[in-house]
Order: sequence, then C-alpha cells, then structure tokens
Amino acid sequence: MKCTRREFLGTSTKVAASALLGSAILGKGSVEAQVDSTKKSDGVTPEVVPMRTLGRTNLKISMMSVGTSRTNENTIRYAIKRGINFIHTSPTYIMGWSIRKVAKAIKGQRDKVILGLKVTWDWDRDDKLVKSLDSLGTDYVDIVFFPIHNDPEQVASPEVKSTFDRWKKQGRVRFLGLTTHGGMKECMQAALKTGWYDCLMPAYQIHQREQYLDLFKECEEKRIGIVAMKTKISPAKPELTSLFFQDRSVKAICRTISSLKALTGYIEAFKRNVPSKDASRIIQRESLASVGRCTMCGTCTLNCPSGLAVNDMVRCVDYYVDTMDDFEVGKENYLAIDRRAGADHCEQCGMCENACPNNVAIRHYVRRSKEMFS
Ligand code: SF4
Ligand code: SF4
Repeated sequence: MKCTRREFLGTSTKVAASALLGSAILGKGSVEAQVDSTKKSDGVTPEVVPMRTLGRTNLKISMMSVGTSRTNENTIRYAIKRGINFIHTSPTYIMGWSIRKVAKAIKGQRDKVILGLKVTWDWDRDDKLVKSLDSLGTDYVDIVFFPIHNDPEQVASPEVKSTFDRWKKQGRVRFLGLTTHGGMKECMQAALKTGWYDCLMPAYQIHQREQYLDLFKECEEKRIGIVAMKTKISPAKPELTSLFFQDRSVKAICRTISSLKALTGYIEAFKRNVPSKDASRIIQRESLASVGRCTMCGTCTLNCPSGLAVNDMVRCVDYYVDTMDDFEVGKENYLAIDRRAGADHCEQCGMCENACPNNVAIRHYVRRSKEMFS
C-alpha cells in the first residue's frame, strides 16, 4: 500500500522513538506493540505511545495510563488523543464526580479505551455495578479491580470468584483484576495461587524491585500483567519511568493525572530513557531516598493494637500531599476512613513504628493527618 509523505514521516518518527525506548534499559524488542499508525491528525500530534500486551487478557495496553482520582474530561480526552488507552476509575473518586468526567471524555470513543473499574461497594450489590456502568455510559468495563489490602485470605475468597463469574456472565465485566497497596507481595502471591486474576495493580516503587523479582518472573510465566500504581514517578524525576519497564511483566504505569500540564510532563517523562549502566545507581539513590518514607507495605496496620487504618492515614499525608502535592485527594481519602479506625483513636503507643521496615515516623503522620484534614 502506498503511503503519503506525512504518513511515512509520522511512522518513521514513531519507529525511531520506539526504537529509542526499546534500547538501553528496556532492551531491544521489549515493546510488544507500537502506536497505531493509522491514527489521523486532528490538531493534536499523535504521540508515540508504546504498548504492551496485558498478559493473558491479550489487551494491548498503553504503557502510560491515566488514574482518575482527580482529573477532568479535557485531560482524559487529550490523553486518548495522545494514544493513552487505559483509564482507571471508581465511583468513589471525588464523590462520583470523577466517573462522570470519564463518561464525558469517552463518549463516542468507548472502543478506543480499556476501562478499569475499582469495586468499592459490597460485592453482592449488582445494582451498584449497574449504576457505575450507567454513570460511565457503557455496558461493560474491561477490567474490574477488587481492592484488597493486607489480606491474602480475602484475595483467595471464593466470593471474589463467584462475584466476578456472575458479573462476567451478565456481560458487564471482561477480566478480573486485583489492586492492592498493603501487604502487596503477599496479596499478589495469593492472587497468583488462585489462578483467577488476569491482572494485578499493586503499589510499587522502583527501589522495591529486588523483593518482587521472583513474583515478576511468576507473573511472566503465567501471563499475568502488572500495572504499577503509586510509583512516585514525576516529571521532576523523568529518569525513573523507564526503569519500571525493565521487567517484562510490568505492562503499564497508572498514575493520577490531574491536569493537561501534568499530562504533558508525564508524557515527557516517558520519552526519557536510562542507559543500563545508570539503572542500579538510580535505584540505589531511590532506595536511600525512601528511608523514612512510606512504601505502603501495610505492616503498620497489621501491628496496630487499636486496629486503626494506619497506612491509610500515612498515605493521605506522605503520598497525596507530600509527594503528589494534592491536598484535596489526601483529604478525600482521609475522610473515607472509618472514623472508628481514624486518628482520633490513636493512643500513641508506637507499636506501628516498631514494626515499620522503613522507619517512618508514623505517629507524626497520624497527627498531621488529623490536623490537616479534620
Ligand atoms: S508507614 Fe511503614 S509500615 Fe506503614 S505502610 Fe508505610 S512503610 Fe509500611
Ligand atoms: S501509635 Fe497509634 S497508630 Fe500506631 S500502633 Fe499505636 S495506636 Fe496504632
């Protein structure tokens, strides 16, 4: 087929940039699928968005993806124009405001996106799933994510499987995902053991790589794709981004994108590549920088004698406010914590700090969460 000069130049640029991404840290040929070369120009330059196959789902997912805990429809639309195709949302984000923004953004282009939906309701409430789909203006989501933290037994609960099977039979969901930001490794191991889950979305920061290598290997063998969230990547540290993709089981990074400016910075960060020789130095640097910062392992919550949602309180301050600079999301997440498990009930016993592998000044964060958001 004959192609025009514009098409040729577009394709050449994409191939060149993809080749760039495919060299150095990623290793040649590690990007399974490239940008759709049939994309038309509509005023926005199509971006080179490398894609990977999301394990056994066979979905081609853009390695950049958009979390929507704080975003708007223009940002999502622009992301889609730039070739980003995975959008993750939940009916609880910004009290339902976010899911409606996603609906507006994907209207008329549902076929261009892979939709992820986090289950934030009692699993027997099928009406809540229907309501979320209505809000999204679609009949189905591609991946339904069960958020389970610090509880491998619940990950393997037959109720997860029966709920998913029922929703799948209804034609409302296609694939089963697990999202976790507490006891990540244990929860992911439990998920792999069941064989039910098609996709995992854990909190994962690059300095934790060593401890996950065996798990990544198992995921690759079983063709279970990982979407990394809460990675702490940022335009200020663009060199971090490509490091996540040195492991082939990591298929995408999901990050909240709150504005067009943030999206642009995010895209630029994805273009940056790291020579292999610098990778271990950067990971070591991140490891040192992580001392005293929360890695969302969930150990503190498991060790609090008062049964408080300790890691949730720390996350609201350390991640949302201090790292993401997003007070509103921090506050929203803080207010979502059951009051009985909140900062008011902290007895300052310090047992959480004794258990924390990262020496986080947890009591300080618990106090700050109360002062900032109450
Ligand atoms: S505060 Fe410490 S124990 Fe708690 S989740 Fe963070 S790193 Fe883990
Ligand atoms: S200091 Fe507070 S949050 Fe930490 S273990 Fe004690 S009661 Fe729980």
